Amino acid sequence: MKRLALLLTLSISTLSHAWTIEGVGDYKFDKLSDSAYVMHGPLGEPNKQNQGFMNNPGIIIGAHGVIVIDPGGTYQVGQQVINEIKKITDKPIVAAFNTHVHGDHWLGNQAVLEQYPNVKIYAHSQMIAEAKDGEGEFWTGLIERLTEGASKGTIATYPTDATSHLQIINVGSEQFKIHNPTTKAHTTTDIMIEHVGSKTLFLGDNDMVHRLGGFGGTSDMHSNIKVLNYATNLNLNHYVPGHGPSGDAEHAVKPYLGYLLILQDEARKGYEEDLADYEIKPFADKRLAEYRDWHGYDAQLGRHINKMLLEIESLDL
Ligand SMILES: [Zn+2]
Repeated sequence: MKRLALLLTLSISTLSHAWTIEGVGDYKFDKLSDSAYVMHGPLGEPNKQNQGFMNNPGIIIGAHGVIVIDPGGTYQVGQQVINEIKKITDKPIVAAFNTHVHGDHWLGNQAVLEQYPNVKIYAHSQMIAEAKDGEGEFWTGLIERLTEGASKGTIATYPTDATSHLQIINVGSEQFKIHNPTTKAHTTTDIMIEHVGSKTLFLGDNDMVHRLGGFGGTSDMHSNIKVLNYATNLNLNHYVPGHGPSGDAEHAVKPYLGYLLILQDEARKGYEEDLADYEIKPFADKRLAEYRDWHGYDAQLGRHINKMLLEIESLDL
């Protein structure tokens, strides 16, 4: 009886530590190390059910404050992320980072700055420029439409401080190192954030696991491959993708890298044989069996091959 009561208490306290999104799941910060935590978001696209929550907000808990990486895709999601932070620490948020310009990662800034107005939010200079030059408005509108109004009231709230490659940023007791070794990868605005103390790398959408997303107009798959090799060579303990589960390099970087390398290989072969993208697709698909259950695979594979082929053609010119 005593045991049952204990079990009940435990399960109730576990429940109270999660943010429940009706019909989607329970979300809380998963512990990677003594100081690093990640809330692994749903794998879909923004929609009414997930309310625009689909990324992996991360936190580092320092001696006197919390540093947040990518606080979510809407004002409301940002508030929930902060609520979850408050359940594990009473320390204030003292700084934030945004990995790139796509709004599902940074529109939660609004909630952070509302509650902690003096916080510095760091991002790539190009991210800040593009966000202010229309991307912020674009993403606010897009997410409001896709969530059927769940994000209403979200206002694009821009990062305050521009970073540079290999910059060291000290926030209280915690040290961070910024990595953007190429001018473009997932976008032209990506930074990867290394938390030195816990040997954790937050890769943003240069990396994904169990989910495939779009390669937009400013992306570069060949550079994305370079960046993933660079990240692996940093030899860190924890790798946090923009979407999907975190892990070591083997489990959290190699899968996406492997996917891109297969596309590159098949697109190269197809290019030499003068094949069109749709003719290359069955060859690639055959080698991608282990990716077929990744969210977005069916929707993205053809587009990804098209993009890879275009890059190979232009490299050959
Ligand atoms: Zn994303």
